[in-house]
Amino acid sequence: MVPAVERLLLGPGPSPVAPRVQRAMSAPILSHLDPALMSILDRVRLQLRDAFGGADDAFACAVSGTGTAGMEAAVANVTRSGRRATVVVNGYFGDRLSQMFGRYGATVSRVEREWGRAADPDALDRALRARGADVVAMVHAETSTGVLNPVAELCAVAQRHGALTVVDAVTSLGAHAVATASWGCDVCYSCTQKGLGAPSGLAPIVFSRRAQDASATSGAAATFYFDLQLLKNYWIDRKYHHTISAPLIYALSESLDVVSEEGFEPRWRRHRGNHLRFARGLGELGLGLLPPDEERLWSLNAVVVPEGVDEARVRQRFLDERSIEIGAGLGPLAGRIWRVGLMGSGSTADNVDRLLDAYRSVLRPA
Ligand SMILES: *Cc1c(COP(=O)(O)O)cnc(C)c1O
Repeated sequence: MVPAVERLLLGPGPSPVAPRVQRAMSAPILSHLDPALMSILDRVRLQLRDAFGGADDAFACAVSGTGTAGMEAAVANVTRSGRRATVVVNGYFGDRLSQMFGRYGATVSRVEREWGRAADPDALDRALRARGADVVAMVHAETSTGVLNPVAELCAVAQRHGALTVVDAVTSLGAHAVATASWGCDVCYSCTQKGLGAPSGLAPIVFSRRAQDASATSGAAATFYFDLQLLKNYWIDRKYHHTISAPLIYALSESLDVVSEEGFEPRWRRHRGNHLRFARGLGELGLGLLPPDEERLWSLNAVVVPEGVDEARVRQRFLDERSIEIGAGLGPLAGRIWRVGLMGSGSTADNVDRLLDAYRSVLRPA
């Protein structure tokens, strides 16, 4: 059975899939060890390393599963029982990251900031002076609040204290600059269905040389499916590990081709430009965004729900009357914000105008 409706996907993900990416998935299925598939994987590996801004000796691949699988792969490979993890938490996904470290046996401390504000590198520095850490983890684009965290500064602090660094780039890869090598980031993961514009199902991830060495000398990781050594055995040495989905690889590969044809910088500029257009239009309607100007994401806009407005009803009307999907707030922001995504091929001036038009008509006083 297939759906009878088509939505304009302008929520926190999935983002719209361009027709050429959609078409790529109908290519013939190849097995996970077919030489023709392996040569696509070789290319994807290099394209991903490039997209993450990884060094030449970094290893990039895509694990099977969604962004959360990428998080699990990152955490499981840098954590061993009893390791100290410091997690920067200023939203739902920072919290998820800290829970995951706990489940993999780490001793977790959290450096918190209120939801809606960017994390503070000085607060991280104070925490690391007080307690130290083997690994420091943070979210680049906090999709629950629309905040961009200063990961270059946070990673620099963590490096000064000798910790490995993990960065969640699930909502930034393909929309904001991601530069793991120059940040000094050791493990960075993302997903396929947000800034890259493919369907969900794979999680791109990159490991620095340092992370690869640390993992190789720490004894077996507590995960089999996401074990870095086993993933390298498959992606590089062609040893069976699991049956990767060929259509999802085709879609990822095609979406990475779209990214390189557009160019990284023009793509980031496009995301910025459409975010600014949306923010300006919201202002004209008397609406605002949750984070301060200089802490805002370009890919995800946290629109403040005005006093007395039923946010769920507005979302329902967007869906029913215009087939536009936007997202609700999570946790403490439930009922207080809408989450409007302008990611991947969804980040267009036309979509911004459609959104503003929808807000204008739905919020117009009766
Ligand atoms: C969406 C998201 C995730 C989880 O991704 P799934 O694909 O839903 O598993 C993790 N971190 C951040 C910052 C996200 O925005």
